[in-house]
Amino acid sequence: MATIFEKIVKGKLPADIVYQDDQVTAFRDIHPAAPTHILIVPNKPIPTVNDVQPEDEPLLGHMIYVAKLLAEKEGIAKDGYRLIINCNQHGGQEVYHLHLHLIGGRPLGPMVV
Ligand code: C5P
Repeated sequence: MATIFEKIVKGKLPADIVYQDDQVTAFRDIHPAAPTHILIVPNKPIPTVNDVQPEDEPLLGHMIYVAKLLAEKEGIAKDGYRLIINCNQHGGQEVYHLHLHLIGGRPLGPMVV
C-alpha cells in the first residue's frame, strides 16, 4: 500500500514541491512548525531509518546535501536550521516513508525531546 509521500513523489497527490531530481523529492510540510518547513524524501519508498541498507548510504548523503541547498535557497543557511528524522512510534514518526525535516526561519531554541 503506497504511503501519502510515495503518491506525492509519483505526482498522484498534490504537494508544494520545491525540488525534485532522480533520487529525492522535497515539498513544504502541510503543518509547518516554522516559516520554513520542508520534507526531503527519497523517491524510493524506504519506510524508516531501520530499513536503510548499505547501498542507501549515498542516497542519505544526498538528502542532507539537498537540505543544505534548500536552506540556502530559503535564505536560512546563515542563521541556521534544524534537520530531523523521526523513526517509528517512540520517535514520533507518522508517515512510514523516510523523510528529513528541514526546519528554520526563526530561533528554534534548545531541542525538546
Ligand atoms: O516525521 P513525521 O512522520 O512525524 O512527519 C510527518 C510530517 O508529514 C508531518 O510534519 C506532517 O505535517 C507532514 N505531512 C505533510 N503532508 C501530508 C501528510 C503529512 O506535509 N499530506
